[in-house]
Order: sequence, then C-alpha cells, then structure tokens
Amino acid sequence: MSKADSPSKGFSSIMIIIVIVALGLSIAAFFFAANALIVTQDVIQGSYFALIGIMGLTLLTYMLIQTRKRTLSLSIQAQKVATTILCQKCGFKNLRDFQRGDFIFKEAEGCPKCNEKMMIASIYREVKKKKGKKELS
Ligand SMILES: [Zn+2]
Repeated sequence: MSKADSPSKGFSSIMIIIVIVALGLSIAAFFFAANALIVTQDVIQGSYFALIGIMGLTLLTYMLIQTRKRTLSLSIQAQKVATTILCQKCGFKNLRDFQRGDFIFKEAEGCPKCNEKMMIASIYREVKKKKGKKELS
C-alpha cells in the first residue's frame, strides 16, 4: 500500500474504519477464493468467496462515491445567504449578509434616509452557478 493517498476532508474516522474493514474482508474473501480454487479445487466455494470479495469492493466503491457526493453538496450549501432589508416608507433597499435570527417581516435597523424602521423583505441564497436565486421561506 502506498502512503500517497491524501486524506479527504469529508472523511470521518468512522468512515475510514468501515472502509478499512470492508477492504480487509474483501481481500480475505479473495484470498479464501484463491485458496479454495487452487488448494482444495472447490470451484463452488471458490466462486462463493470471490463473489463476497466482489460485493465488498462494489460496496466500498459505492460508499466512496456517496461520500464524495455528500462533501460536494455540503460545499454547495456553504454558499452565502443574503438578506434584503426594505424601507416601507421611502423604498430604500439594503442588502447584507444573512445574520442569525433573520426572518422575513422582522424589524431591522433604522433607514439611513428617513430614519423609519426598515423590514426584512427577503432572504435568499446567493447561488453563483446558473440556477438563480432560491428563496428560503
Ligand atoms: Zn426610508
């Protein structure tokens, strides 16, 4: 085994243990398969163990793909959420980063133009890729 494999950030220690165990079991199954085919010449047992090995490796590959997909979707979710604040009186519009506790129709700070209390008009996620704005509520 090479040490060159760079550890992915999305990998939890539990995942690594599962992957190692599954890999170990698959290798053991292939070993038993080879042993059955060569030493005891039991084709049925050999193919049975080979099947377990293949299944283990397939599961492992599937799991790795799933993990990669999940970390990818997480990085998409980490995108900026913006809050639009609107003054009901003069129509002044202000855009700022979403802050914890923000909700639509919540009273915001005073309007810099007319000093009237402004209100949160919309909260949306800023999507840089094509799909456009997505309303949260
Ligand atoms: Zn105003």
